[in-house]
Amino acid sequence: MLAQRRLPTRDRQDYLEDQQCTFCGQVLETQEHLFFGCPPIAELWRRIRDWLHMRPEMSTYRRTLRVFGRHYRGSRMLTKAHHLALSSMIHYVWRARNSSFFEERQLDIERILRSVQIHVYRSLGLYSDLRLCQT
Ligand SMILES: [Zn+2]
Repeated sequence: MLAQRRLPTRDRQDYLEDQQCTFCGQVLETQEHLFFGCPPIAELWRRIRDWLHMRPEMSTYRRTLRVFGRHYRGSRMLTKAHHLALSSMIHYVWRARNSSFFEERQLDIERILRSVQIHVYRSLGLYSDLRLCQT
């Protein structure tokens, strides 16, 4: 859905009076802004990249796709972790956005980071070693 730019972000909902970002309220809520440009999410993504020693230049969706296409291919465990981290980051950020949008819940990036880490470890079968989850 993200690749096809079909998530119902506020910029795609013309009937909404307020189309500003659900998290920061500063700019139009587009997919690019919500997942990569919004300051707290950019910080979250930076921390996830640091955690998995990912390349630093992935500050936009396009750059992220380019890096994934060029460098993160194959079946090594770390490569799998990179893919799992990106997909679960998108999942948890979208979920947090909807909790914020519909239930006025506060964004908690620590919680999202933890959820992403647990998802990655669980998917790789490493969940029992919780020491690895500490950043
Ligand atoms: Zn924002």
